[in-house]
Amino acid sequence: MNTDLFINNEWRPAASGKRFPVVNPATEEVIAEVAAGDAGDVDNAVAAARTCFESDAWRNLSARKRGRLLAKAADLLEGRLEEIARLETAHNGKTLFESKIEITMTVNTLRYYAGWADKITGDTLPVDGPFLVYTLREPIGVVGAIVPWNFPLNIASWKFAPALAAGCTVVLKPASETPLTALAFAELVLEAGFPPGAFNVVTGGGSTAGAALVRHPDVDKISFTGSTEVGRQIMRMAAETNKRVTLELGGKSPNIIFADADLKAAVRGAQTGIFYGKGEVCAAGSRLLVERSVHDQVVEQLAEGAKKLTPGDPLDKNTRLGALVSKRQQETVLGYIKKGVAEGAALVAGGKAVSPPPNGKGYFVEATVFDQVSPEMTIAREEIFGPVLAVLSFDDFEQGVKLANQSMYGLAAGIWTKDIQKAHRAARAIRAGTVWINAYNFYDSGAPFGGFKASGFGRDLGKEALDGYTEVKTVWVGL
Ligand code: NAD
Repeated sequence: MNTDLFINNEWRPAASGKRFPVVNPATEEVIAEVAAGDAGDVDNAVAAARTCFESDAWRNLSARKRGRLLAKAADLLEGRLEEIARLETAHNGKTLFESKIEITMTVNTLRYYAGWADKITGDTLPVDGPFLVYTLREPIGVVGAIVPWNFPLNIASWKFAPALAAGCTVVLKPASETPLTALAFAELVLEAGFPPGAFNVVTGGGSTAGAALVRHPDVDKISFTGSTEVGRQIMRMAAETNKRVTLELGGKSPNIIFADADLKAAVRGAQTGIFYGKGEVCAAGSRLLVERSVHDQVVEQLAEGAKKLTPGDPLDKNTRLGALVSKRQQETVLGYIKKGVAEGAALVAGGKAVSPPPNGKGYFVEATVFDQVSPEMTIAREEIFGPVLAVLSFDDFEQGVKLANQSMYGLAAGIWTKDIQKAHRAARAIRAGTVWINAYNFYDSGAPFGGFKASGFGRDLGKEALDGYTEVKTVWVGL
């Protein structure tokens, strides 16, 4: 596959000639050497995106044609689903089972926004006086999309699909751990027949290529998904050029099990809530809040389930727990586990690094459950981003909701109860961008997703995402 930068529909090596290695975290092998783009390459990509934006090639292409190109890209991706899912597994370590779900969702997202392209409209406004007043929704311009490594192609599509549908042009900077599927997608963009400069990919480091994109005066908007810490830096840097920003940041999401819940379903939901995607999921239900009267039985079932969920070869169709993305991430997660033990939480399942067959290598961590966690402990407060669950207990509704909101984050939450009034009361009381009731970890292209509080602002997905890629223009006509 191509491992150069994708700029103006051409494959180009980095101007510096530098490359960086991409490692398969399940085998520890270097699987590619990818172009290390930096500020000069970002300049070239932004220039291509700007030229395309200012020309008639994209924003003034009929909206229907833009939609058709997005739909074509979706079809091409669907045609190579298995191959691209394998590539996602190769650089990320997630199971092939999960990669297929991820790439399917990417296909859906492309189709969803392909449908929106010719339905982005303004309003006609009843104002005082002899005027016809209407609004136009115009594309914001050149969009810099900076994305993390956990759902590499899917999260990228949450940005480039609505941006392209709205008539923006895009420079995508994938995470340096996982640049391969963005490059594979660029091949499909070329095949689909997008005009040069509409979609560009600059691979490279965050502090080099990423920061250059954020600082670039010709980029109109940064759409970022990643850690809260980097999100803050981006906000500061973007201020220098009054750039618009959308930030999808970290989380420490509460998953609340009330005593009247269907406990079997709740335990299953708690498990997929934290172990799906090896816990490297921004909305992972990493704080499990259990009503005290059912606490013992919930924890017992959870520990039992976690012990059965053994890490293994991500390409094996039966594996449900893959490798963490990198050695560094494995070390971070193990560091948190150590802290949990040191601060007095009770380790009831997992806790160790493993190197399963067939390679006897790789950055795996067991499915880990901590019981008797208190809100002050580090593992109850900080995002671990790994397969580590912290279980806390509460006595009544008020205490449960209070505990749920006791976090600087507000990305998502889960509620398990059979009482519909209680469920909806809790959904209202929790400060988070997504609340699942008797479900966890479901996403859809049509359902907006994003954070409250330190989990960021702006929304991906749904029609709401389009707001982030359009400017509103008000037109007054004297009658
Ligand atoms: P990260 O913040 O380290 O990196 C994200 C991206 O930003 C990468 O492409 C990186 O190269 C780039 N980057 C790093 N420093 C930069 C800088 N100074 N300027 C510009 N770009 C820079 O995050 P990560 O480790 O890749 O991903 C994990 C984090 O992402 C977690 O905190 C997780 O919660 C969050 N996340 C959030 C969502 C969401 O929708 N809210 C979804 C997925 C992941």
